[in-house]
Amino acid sequence: MTKPIVTIDGPAGAGKSTVAKGVAERLGYIYIDTGAMYRAVAWKVIQEKIPISDHTRITALANRLDIRFEKIGSEQRIFADGEDVTEAIRTPEATRLSSPVSAIKGVRKRLVDLQRKMGEAGGVVMEGRDIGTVVFPHAEVKVFLTASATERARRRTEELREKGLDVDLDQIAEEISERDLRDSSRSEAPLKQAPDAVLIETDSLTLEQVIDAVIAVHDEKVSKINHEDDKE
Ligand code: C5P
Repeated sequence: MTKPIVTIDGPAGAGKSTVAKGVAERLGYIYIDTGAMYRAVAWKVIQEKIPISDHTRITALANRLDIRFEKIGSEQRIFADGEDVTEAIRTPEATRLSSPVSAIKGVRKRLVDLQRKMGEAGGVVMEGRDIGTVVFPHAEVKVFLTASATERARRRTEELREKGLDVDLDQIAEEISERDLRDSSRSEAPLKQAPDAVLIETDSLTLEQVIDAVIAVHDEKVSKINHEDDKE
């Protein structure tokens, strides 16, 4: 069989990016961070000072924005209209704006089209909120990663502090719960577990254990598919 599509969905701070990167590396697959794509649109909205209520202009912007991932050394970087925005999309302002921007129908349509093109050949690990439900509902391997709200806030705070940002745990907790609520209650592609996704609760697991668990889901699925192929 061709290499499968691995989808990893879950709320903010569940560790999706680190896990997806680790899984892709171990499997030799391509890693795609779809949150970074929504953030890139949010970044451009900030640059162009478009009010968040102007859905028509934001959709037009998303439609013409050139978004690319490039692997430089061992690092995956994201470019928007040729500009390296890997760090710029992680500012608190871009983070905050990414959620309302991602709730705009036209923006989702454009990015989902791009994501399908990037992943359709298989051999990818794609992470986000709606990958197993909307982008690739027929993906072979689906995982839903989660952790308690306290743990997610703690991890995100640590991650930002490591980058040298002066952040407050309570404020991060509040921002995460605000984004969770918005991401799960929106009408377009809300965050939810696909019925056929395997749930992994990561509070008491190390990063390596979570990666192992996802690889186990992958390997089991691949051997099942190969077995079925042999029978035909
Ligand atoms: O994953 P990350 O926190 O970088 O995502 C930024 C925002 O992009 C999320 O809060 C969510 O609103 C949105 N997003 C989405 N669908 C995806 C990935 C991210 O709506 N597949």
